[in-house]
Amino acid sequence: MSATYQPRPAASTTRAVTKVAEGYRIVGNPFKPANAITVSDTVWKKLTSLRNEIDAAFRDSVDKDWVLEKTSSGDVRASVSVFNARPYVHVRAWSGGFPTRNGTSVRNWGEFAEILRGGDDDKDSGIDVDEDEDVKLGSETYAAILTESAGAEMKRLCEGCVNDWPSQLDHACITGCPSTVAEAVANVSVTPQYFAVRLAQAAMERAYVLGRVPREVLDAVIERHDGHLRATLRESLSSDY
Ligand SMILES: [Zn+2]
Repeated sequence: MSATYQPRPAASTTRAVTKVAEGYRIVGNPFKPANAITVSDTVWKKLTSLRNEIDAAFRDSVDKDWVLEKTSSGDVRASVSVFNARPYVHVRAWSGGFPTRNGTSVRNWGEFAEILRGGDDDKDSGIDVDEDEDVKLGSETYAAILTESAGAEMKRLCEGCVNDWPSQLDHACITGCPSTVAEAVANVSVTPQYFAVRLAQAAMERAYVLGRVPREVLDAVIERHDGHLRATLRESLSSDY
Protein backbone atom coordinates (compact mmCIF):
# COMPACT_ATOMS: atom_id res chain seq x y z
CA MET A 1 0.00 0.00 0.00
CA SER A 2 1.30 3.40 -0.90
CA ALA A 3 2.09 5.77 1.92
CA THR A 4 1.27 8.79 -0.21
CA TYR A 5 -2.09 10.41 -0.03
CA GLN A 6 -4.24 11.35 -2.97
CA PRO A 7 -6.41 14.21 -1.77
CA ARG A 8 -10.08 13.71 -2.29
CA PRO A 9 -11.88 16.98 -2.92
CA ALA A 10 -14.37 17.81 -0.18
CA ALA A 11 -17.98 18.59 -1.03
CA SER A 12 -18.14 21.65 1.19
CA THR A 13 -17.31 24.96 -0.42
CA THR A 14 -16.85 27.15 2.62
CA ARG A 15 -13.20 27.92 3.05
CA ALA A 16 -11.58 30.23 5.49
CA VAL A 17 -8.39 32.14 5.00
CA THR A 18 -6.95 33.96 7.99
CA LYS A 19 -3.91 36.15 8.33
CA VAL A 20 -1.56 34.69 10.94
CA ALA A 21 1.94 35.58 12.11
CA GLU A 22 3.52 33.07 9.71
CA GLY A 23 1.52 34.31 6.72
CA TYR A 24 -1.89 32.97 5.68
CA ARG A 25 -3.68 29.96 7.08
CA ILE A 26 -6.03 28.25 4.63
CA VAL A 27 -8.51 25.86 6.22
CA GLY A 28 -9.61 23.33 3.64
CA ASN A 29 -11.96 21.12 5.57
CA PRO A 30 -13.60 22.56 8.71
CA PHE A 31 -13.79 19.04 10.16
CA LYS A 32 -10.09 18.45 9.66
CA PRO A 33 -8.41 21.67 10.75
CA ALA A 34 -5.17 19.74 11.26
CA ASN A 35 -4.87 19.49 7.48
CA ALA A 36 -4.93 23.25 7.06
CA ILE A 37 -1.99 24.76 5.26
CA THR A 38 -0.15 27.90 6.27
CA VAL A 39 1.73 29.71 3.54
CA SER A 40 4.14 32.61 3.79
CA ASP A 41 3.32 36.13 2.58
CA THR A 42 5.55 35.51 -0.44
CA VAL A 43 3.71 32.31 -1.35
CA TRP A 44 0.35 34.02 -0.85
CA LYS A 45 1.43 36.84 -3.13
CA LYS A 46 2.55 34.32 -5.75
CA LEU A 47 -0.81 32.58 -5.45
CA THR A 48 -2.77 35.81 -5.94
CA SER A 49 -0.66 36.67 -8.99
CA LEU A 50 -1.56 33.28 -10.53
CA ARG A 51 -5.28 33.98 -10.26
CA ASN A 52 -5.87 34.46 -14.01
CA GLU A 53 -3.85 31.39 -14.97
CA ILE A 54 -5.67 29.25 -12.42
CA ASP A 55 -8.95 30.65 -13.66
CA ALA A 56 -8.11 29.68 -17.26
CA ALA A 57 -7.14 26.11 -16.28
CA PHE A 58 -10.28 25.80 -14.14
CA ARG A 59 -12.49 27.11 -16.94
CA ASP A 60 -10.94 24.77 -19.51
CA SER A 61 -10.89 21.84 -17.05
CA VAL A 62 -7.24 20.99 -17.60
CA ASP A 63 -4.79 19.51 -15.07
CA LYS A 64 -2.06 21.93 -14.25
CA ASP A 65 0.23 22.74 -11.37
CA TRP A 66 2.44 25.59 -10.26
CA VAL A 67 5.20 25.33 -7.68
CA LEU A 68 4.74 28.15 -5.19
CA GLU A 69 7.62 27.32 -2.89
CA LYS A 70 10.40 24.77 -2.61
CA THR A 71 10.91 23.44 0.91
CA SER A 72 13.35 20.99 2.43
CA SER A 73 10.69 18.29 2.56
CA GLY A 74 9.16 18.95 -0.85
CA ASP A 75 7.19 21.87 -2.18
CA VAL A 76 3.97 23.81 -1.95
CA ARG A 77 1.92 23.83 -5.12
CA ALA A 78 -1.22 25.33 -6.51
CA SER A 79 -2.90 23.01 -8.95
CA VAL A 80 -6.02 22.41 -10.96
CA SER A 81 -7.11 18.81 -11.30
CA VAL A 82 -10.15 17.18 -12.78
CA PHE A 83 -11.94 14.72 -10.50
CA ASN A 84 -15.18 12.98 -11.55
CA ALA A 85 -15.34 15.29 -14.58
CA ARG A 86 -15.14 18.43 -12.41
CA PRO A 87 -12.22 20.78 -11.94
CA TYR A 88 -10.90 21.51 -8.45
CA VAL A 89 -8.31 23.99 -7.30
CA HIS A 90 -5.80 22.78 -4.72
CA VAL A 91 -3.23 24.53 -2.60
CA ARG A 92 -1.22 21.75 -1.07
CA ALA A 93 2.13 20.59 0.27
CA TRP A 94 3.71 17.98 -1.97
CA SER A 95 6.34 15.46 -1.02
CA GLY A 96 8.34 13.21 -3.31
CA GLY A 97 6.24 14.26 -6.29
CA PHE A 98 2.91 13.44 -4.59
CA PRO A 99 0.34 15.62 -2.86
CA THR A 100 0.09 15.26 0.94
CA ARG A 101 -2.88 15.69 3.28
CA ASN A 102 -1.82 19.19 4.14
CA GLY A 103 -3.68 21.73 2.12
CA THR A 104 -7.02 22.55 0.65
CA SER A 105 -9.20 21.47 -2.28
CA VAL A 106 -11.73 23.91 -3.60
CA ARG A 107 -14.65 23.31 -5.90
CA ASN A 108 -16.06 26.80 -5.62
CA TRP A 109 -13.22 28.50 -7.42
CA GLY A 110 -15.16 31.75 -7.88
CA GLU A 111 -15.40 32.20 -4.13
CA PHE A 112 -11.76 31.34 -3.57
CA ALA A 113 -10.66 33.67 -6.37
CA GLU A 114 -12.59 36.41 -4.59
CA ILE A 115 -10.57 35.76 -1.42
CA LEU A 116 -7.37 35.91 -3.46
CA ARG A 117 -8.52 39.18 -4.95
CA GLY A 118 -8.99 40.52 -1.42
CA GLY A 119 -5.43 39.42 -0.67
CA ASP A 120 -4.31 41.39 -3.68
CA ASP A 121 -5.99 44.57 -2.49
CA ASP A 122 -4.33 44.37 0.93
CA LYS A 123 -0.95 44.45 -0.73
CA ASP A 124 -1.86 47.04 -3.31
CA SER A 125 -1.39 50.25 -1.39
CA GLY A 126 -0.56 52.07 -4.64
CA ILE A 127 -4.21 52.16 -5.73
CA ASP A 128 -6.00 55.25 -4.56
CA VAL A 129 -9.31 54.94 -2.80
CA ASP A 130 -11.49 56.67 -5.41
CA GLU A 131 -10.19 54.48 -8.15
CA ASP A 132 -10.85 51.37 -6.11
CA GLU A 133 -14.41 52.49 -5.29
CA ASP A 134 -15.03 53.05 -9.00
CA VAL A 135 -13.91 49.54 -9.83
CA LYS A 136 -15.92 48.12 -6.94
CA LEU A 137 -19.11 49.79 -8.10
CA GLY A 138 -18.23 48.90 -11.69
CA SER A 139 -17.76 45.27 -10.72
CA GLU A 140 -21.18 45.13 -9.02
CA THR A 141 -22.77 46.75 -12.07
CA TYR A 142 -20.97 44.43 -14.46
CA ALA A 143 -22.01 41.37 -12.42
CA ALA A 144 -25.66 42.51 -12.43
CA ILE A 145 -25.68 42.95 -16.21
CA LEU A 146 -23.99 39.58 -16.77
CA THR A 147 -26.54 37.87 -14.52
CA GLU A 148 -29.50 39.44 -16.31
CA SER A 149 -28.09 38.76 -19.78
CA ALA A 150 -27.19 35.17 -18.92
CA GLY A 151 -30.75 34.59 -17.70
CA ALA A 152 -32.16 35.89 -20.99
CA GLU A 153 -29.60 33.87 -22.95
CA MET A 154 -30.57 30.71 -21.04
CA LYS A 155 -34.16 31.22 -22.19
CA ARG A 156 -33.04 31.82 -25.77
CA LEU A 157 -30.97 28.61 -25.76
CA CYS A 158 -33.64 26.57 -23.96
CA GLU A 159 -35.24 23.97 -26.20
CA GLY A 160 -38.30 23.84 -23.96
CA CYS A 161 -38.89 27.57 -24.42
CA VAL A 162 -38.29 27.42 -28.18
CA ASN A 163 -40.72 24.51 -28.61
CA ASP A 164 -43.17 25.73 -25.98
CA TRP A 165 -43.05 22.47 -24.03
CA PRO A 166 -45.39 22.47 -21.05
CA SER A 167 -43.32 20.29 -18.71
CA GLN A 168 -40.90 22.34 -16.63
CA LEU A 169 -38.58 19.33 -16.48
CA ASP A 170 -37.72 19.84 -20.15
CA HIS A 171 -36.60 23.42 -19.63
CA ALA A 172 -32.84 23.89 -19.35
CA CYS A 173 -33.66 27.50 -18.42
CA ILE A 174 -35.26 26.25 -15.19
CA THR A 175 -33.31 23.09 -14.45
CA GLY A 176 -29.91 24.80 -14.75
CA CYS A 177 -28.45 22.21 -17.13
CA PRO A 178 -24.67 22.77 -16.76
CA SER A 179 -23.86 22.72 -20.49
CA THR A 180 -26.59 25.27 -21.25
CA VAL A 181 -25.39 27.40 -18.33
CA ALA A 182 -21.79 27.26 -19.60
CA GLU A 183 -22.89 28.21 -23.11
CA ALA A 184 -25.14 31.03 -21.91
CA VAL A 185 -22.47 32.50 -19.60
CA ALA A 186 -19.87 32.32 -22.38
CA ASN A 187 -22.20 33.99 -24.90
CA VAL A 188 -23.05 37.12 -22.98
CA SER A 189 -21.05 40.31 -23.10
CA VAL A 190 -21.46 43.81 -21.72
CA THR A 191 -21.41 46.71 -24.17
CA PRO A 192 -19.62 49.92 -23.12
CA GLN A 193 -22.76 51.97 -23.87
CA TYR A 194 -25.07 49.93 -21.67
CA PHE A 195 -22.45 49.66 -18.95
CA ALA A 196 -22.11 53.47 -18.92
CA VAL A 197 -25.86 53.89 -18.43
CA ARG A 198 -26.08 51.33 -15.65
CA LEU A 199 -22.95 52.58 -13.91
CA ALA A 200 -24.34 56.13 -13.92
CA GLN A 201 -27.62 54.85 -12.43
CA ALA A 202 -25.78 52.88 -9.74
CA ALA A 203 -23.63 55.91 -8.87
CA MET A 204 -26.70 58.16 -8.69
CA GLU A 205 -28.54 55.76 -6.35
CA ARG A 206 -25.58 55.86 -3.98
CA ALA A 207 -24.94 59.59 -4.42
CA TYR A 208 -21.44 58.60 -5.47
CA VAL A 209 -19.27 60.65 -7.82
CA LEU A 210 -17.25 58.54 -10.21
CA GLY A 211 -13.58 59.41 -10.49
CA ARG A 212 -13.07 57.91 -13.91
CA VAL A 213 -14.92 57.67 -17.20
CA PRO A 214 -17.10 54.53 -17.55
CA ARG A 215 -14.99 53.09 -20.36
CA GLU A 216 -11.88 53.04 -18.14
CA VAL A 217 -13.86 51.50 -15.30
CA LEU A 218 -15.17 48.82 -17.65
CA ASP A 219 -11.68 47.96 -18.89
CA ALA A 220 -10.42 47.66 -15.32
CA VAL A 221 -13.40 45.54 -14.29
CA ILE A 222 -12.96 43.17 -17.24
CA GLU A 223 -9.25 42.86 -16.67
CA ARG A 224 -9.55 42.19 -12.96
CA HIS A 225 -12.93 40.55 -12.47
CA ASP A 226 -14.41 39.06 -15.64
CA GLY A 227 -12.99 35.55 -15.07
CA HIS A 228 -14.12 35.02 -11.51
CA LEU A 229 -17.46 36.79 -12.00
CA ARG A 230 -18.31 34.40 -14.83
CA ALA A 231 -17.11 31.41 -12.77
CA THR A 232 -19.33 32.49 -9.87
CA LEU A 233 -22.27 33.04 -12.21
CA ARG A 234 -21.87 29.56 -13.73
CA GLU A 235 -21.85 28.09 -10.25
CA SER A 236 -24.95 29.97 -9.16
CA LEU A 237 -26.95 29.08 -12.29
CA SER A 238 -26.03 25.38 -12.38
CA SER A 239 -28.49 23.17 -10.54
CA ASP A 240 -25.89 20.43 -10.66
CA TYR A 241 -23.76 22.41 -8.30
ZN1 LIG B 1 -37.25 27.14 -20.98
